Amino acid sequence: MACAAGCGAAADGAARSHSSSRGAEIDGQHTVARQPYAGKFPMPVVATTGMVADLVEHVGGPHVAVTQLMGAGIDPHLYKASTGDMAKLNRAAAIFYSGLHLEGKMGDTLTRLARKKPTVAVAESIDKGRLLEVGPDRYDPHVWFDVLLWRETLSAVEQTLAEFDPTHTNDYHDAAEKYRVELKDLDDFCRRELATIASERRVLVTAHDAFHYFGRAYNLEVKAIQGVSTQSEAGLKEINELVAYMAHRGIKAVFVESSVSERNVQALVEGCKAHGHKVDIGGELFSDAMGKPGTPDGTYPGMVRHNVDLIVKALK
Ligand SMILES: [Zn+2]
Repeated sequence: MACAAGCGAAADGAARSHSSSRGAEIDGQHTVARQPYAGKFPMPVVATTGMVADLVEHVGGPHVAVTQLMGAGIDPHLYKASTGDMAKLNRAAAIFYSGLHLEGKMGDTLTRLARKKPTVAVAESIDKGRLLEVGPDRYDPHVWFDVLLWRETLSAVEQTLAEFDPTHTNDYHDAAEKYRVELKDLDDFCRRELATIASERRVLVTAHDAFHYFGRAYNLEVKAIQGVSTQSEAGLKEINELVAYMAHRGIKAVFVESSVSERNVQALVEGCKAHGHKVDIGGELFSDAMGKPGTPDGTYPGMVRHNVDLIVKALK
């Protein structure tokens, strides 16, 4: 079977969570195989988060015009498609999203669109054995903070575009190959910088549980106030447990996130203070959204560098 990279995504991810699509040959990749793109260039493409838009822009280059739905400071777990977004999604020739339920409130919309056009969950193209399981058949969606793991999703974008638009296949392959080299350098940077933090200080405490892949890749212990999705609220119990843990381990810094309310982090800092343990806010990390467009933090490599610099400065 001729199967684009995102095929695994459609078969394992989209079809699993949306059983209505199973066996109906309606996933995006099969549409691609049957009907190559015949419209004008640049091809209009929609991406959900900044991290996904970054992949598509790098691979698609001048052949695609990427519209990103979720800008700086936007929480994808809670995001609902607006009427304006629906118009953009309907106009798009192809859609790329992160997947693994990151865009938790857009699932039905994306399933419906996948019946009409190539719609690819990039993170669902990653081998399940390399994902962090958070429940039965549920995986942590925050794969972009393991740079080498995120790099693997480039294949899903590359193969989808090459199959949908065969006229520019070589360009897509070359661009993906070039970005792979850049991301390897970025991963080297993360390893080098984070290795300078002493072992007893390698604990990262954040607002919500977005950094487990980061912790696994770069050898940091990770703790968070809220769970893997911001849809679940943190209770007083969770905050008190974390206060006790931080006092016990002597952890001096906790991080807020650009796309999550600071309220819980403030409660944690206050709780530590009440226990006679002083904790500082180490700064604002980018977790599920990148920085503003046109700034270094508005790119994927830039957001990763920002986080690493901040973490090293606060924990070292
Ligand atoms: Zn998240």
